Amino acid sequence: MYRNILVAVDGSEHSVRALKQAEQLARALDSRLILVHAFATADIAGHSDHSSLLAGRRAKGQEVLDAARATLEDAARVEQEVLSADPDAEAILAAAKTHRADLVVMGSRGLGTLKGLLLGSVSQKVSHLASCPVLLVR
Ligand code: ATP
Ligand code: MG
Repeated sequence: MYRNILVAVDGSEHSVRALKQAEQLARALDSRLILVHAFATADIAGHSDHSSLLAGRRAKGQEVLDAARATLEDAARVEQEVLSADPDAEAILAAAKTHRADLVVMGSRGLGTLKGLLLGSVSQKVSHLASCPVLLVR
């Protein structure tokens, strides 16, 4: 059960808590952890400096994942992937398929500023459309 746990990381406090929960589950169940972070691309399409902007975003995304991974006590069975994505939720859903995730763990909210919402748009879409269980961490 839950052999491949995919964790969606955006650097928010919710996603930090989600990663902690995923880490404990992975330890208890001896699961593989796959950390993913999606970065936006649509707003720079057609930009004259497109490829260097893209490379910069990819590098920042890598930093977000490296920082998340560095908080883990044991990173032995941890993989990570930066996803170029528009919109973010679809990249996370696609990554869940590619990595054969049988559980997705993510924050209920993220870096968005609309504090009143119960769920962010990414967690809402992923939890509606994923073909495996999704754990939303508050
Ligand atoms: P919104 O983005 O709709 O304004 P929000 O930022 O509060 O609202 P979400 O973006 O849905 O909420 O974030 C919920 C969770 O989804 C985060 O805690 C994180 O686990 C995941 N997530 C959000 N954005 C990304 C991303 N770019 N890459 C990976 N995971 C993400
Ligand atoms: Mg967000």
